[in-house]
Amino acid sequence: MPLFEKILIANRGEIAIRVIKTCRRLGIATLAVYSEADMRSPYVRLADEAAFIGPPPARQSYLVGERLIEAALAHGCQAVHPGYGFLSENAAFARRAAEAGLVFIGPPPTAIATLGDKMASKTLALQAGVPVVPGHDQPLDDPEAALAAAEAVGWPVLIKPAAGGGGRGMRIVRQPSELAHALAACRDEALKGFADGRVFLERYIDDPRHVEVQVMADRHGNVIHLGERECSIQRRYQKVIEETPSPAVDEALRERMGRVACDLARAAGYEGAGTVEFILAPDLSFFFLEMNTRLQVEHPITELVTGLDLVEMQLEVAAGRPLAVAQDDVRLNGWGIEARVCAEDPARGFVPTTGMITRYAVPRGEGVRLDSGIEDGSLVTIHYDSLLAKVSAWGGSREQARQRLARALNGYHIEGLTTNVDFVNAVVNHPAFAEGRLSTGFLEEYFPEGASNLPPEPWHLSYTAMAALMVFHTRRYLVKESLKPMSPLVGAARTLQDRHDYVVRVDHQVFNISLKGEPDSRRWEVVVDGKKHEVLAPEFAYFRRRLALKIDGVSHMFRLQYFENHIKGFFCGVVRTYEIYTPAEWNLAQYMQRERKETLDNVLRCPMPGLITALYAKEGDYVRKGQELARMESMKMESGIASTCDAQVEKVMVSPGQTVESGDALIIFRTS
Ligand code: ADP
Repeated sequence: MPLFEKILIANRGEIAIRVIKTCRRLGIATLAVYSEADMRSPYVRLADEAAFIGPPPARQSYLVGERLIEAALAHGCQAVHPGYGFLSENAAFARRAAEAGLVFIGPPPTAIATLGDKMASKTLALQAGVPVVPGHDQPLDDPEAALAAAEAVGWPVLIKPAAGGGGRGMRIVRQPSELAHALAACRDEALKGFADGRVFLERYIDDPRHVEVQVMADRHGNVIHLGERECSIQRRYQKVIEETPSPAVDEALRERMGRVACDLARAAGYEGAGTVEFILAPDLSFFFLEMNTRLQVEHPITELVTGLDLVEMQLEVAAGRPLAVAQDDVRLNGWGIEARVCAEDPARGFVPTTGMITRYAVPRGEGVRLDSGIEDGSLVTIHYDSLLAKVSAWGGSREQARQRLARALNGYHIEGLTTNVDFVNAVVNHPAFAEGRLSTGFLEEYFPEGASNLPPEPWHLSYTAMAALMVFHTRRYLVKESLKPMSPLVGAARTLQDRHDYVVRVDHQVFNISLKGEPDSRRWEVVVDGKKHEVLAPEFAYFRRRLALKIDGVSHMFRLQYFENHIKGFFCGVVRTYEIYTPAEWNLAQYMQRERKETLDNVLRCPMPGLITALYAKEGDYVRKGQELARMESMKMESGIASTCDAQVEKVMVSPGQTVESGDALIIFRTS
């Protein structure tokens, strides 16, 4: 007997697909719901049945509880899985579903209501003996009371909306003079975001880690925990990368955190999957933050290390069965790391991006798990969360999981809209991340302005230079009719088996690279600045957008975009344009550059071919060296062009919308 015959999934995107997968395995039929914007979404096709619920805005579709309940009843569902977000933590919806005779796959409405309120849940936690952040437990009305509360709690303080979520409205206050303003701003945002103006304050813990415990409870009094997840890599209090276990938590700490998390769940009369969030101070003291009464976005990594299916456990508990797993049965094996891939632009303050996915290729590899809600042709709109997919990797050790995740992200190709995939990969490849030195301030410290504060690792550049060059080289020598890499050259005395020399420039670095293919094999000898590498390459039958190379015995994945001898390479979060020259071309280019420098150093030249999108200087302006004077778009990337000197602008040679070539004059400066 299946747990249920049919359930409604009150969600969309990757999480709807995630729930469908388990249901399918368990023989449970699924009903998807979709707004107009989602009528062609993959999850709708994957479900056994689908019901239309309204126009694109969530307020008129995914958040209209009555319509979902109607659909569930009309299609003969017995239960509703809310996923995360939307109505997942809405006690009124859970209650209405129950009244309509549907099982809400989540905790009882009373538990949702108490735990969903940050202040009420803190009170409950205190009663259950759970350590909480020192704070004031009443809503703050006027600045006077707030000041007294802050003095009592100790500076710095954090002002939070009681009904908050997603980090919205929170304000750090470091001194009394900032308090009144922060209080008003927080209340304002709380009213707008949650229609609830209650705000409170607590001590702000400096340099903390975010560590949360996954719990699972049944109706029969069993409560277990499935270890912790560390989610310290956050931007604006929103998680970006999560891992389990936490590099900061040892067995004893895990046992203590797990125990208090279970105590809290018990005190709340909890059922189903829940997450107890803690803040872990540098001295390893920990404090309760809040409890999320649903399946978390980052649950896959817990599944990777425990081998359990959390959705299946949710369904079992909701069907009234006792937990099949006891605390002693829970084994944590290896390490799991997850990266959230979002439609957003890290270079522009992480603003959400929209567009159609014109090309889509998914990452693969040992230990890699992808939870994605998109495909070729998906339209990403303004209406929903920017989360597109989650890439997770399992490894026997943290380092193995990290390397597998980096490789998976290297091979994740999403074209058509800007995503954060290279940004998250840069984070995964940052030495501080590799060493597990995490805190919630990590991104602010190491990725100010959305980019790494370190120069790229030399091997990231040289490997990508090799990859770009190998495609360029073989394409150049291929015989059109027989697309075989080892074909002899047409009309030339040399073959691919001869040694060929090149110069590859990236940023201000130059690599001297020579290549030699072995006859009738995919083996190449590649020498980079005197260092010999053995490379195993695929057949270069076309301009590959994803290229897998085995370099000195280790497999790597590169993403490439082509523009004649300018090849854009994406590897380990390092995104650069690689310029390829033969030695003769290089000498000529160098010569021309010297000529230009000597005669025309009053000219700002275009660094690459593309389209001018904006100009920030006009005739007569005084500009400083390093000041951004223009922006250009090249191969779908926008970049700024900075002034090379302190000078006055004599003439602007281009206008927005104009296409330009590498070396074109953009601005002429006045030479005094
Ligand atoms: P939300 O429900 O809005 O996401 P949380 O209470 O879960 O808010 O906090 C989100 C994040 O804010 C935490 O992961 C942590 O980085 C930070 N944070 C919250 N409370 C504190 C605190 N008292 N001191 C320091 N950082 C905090």
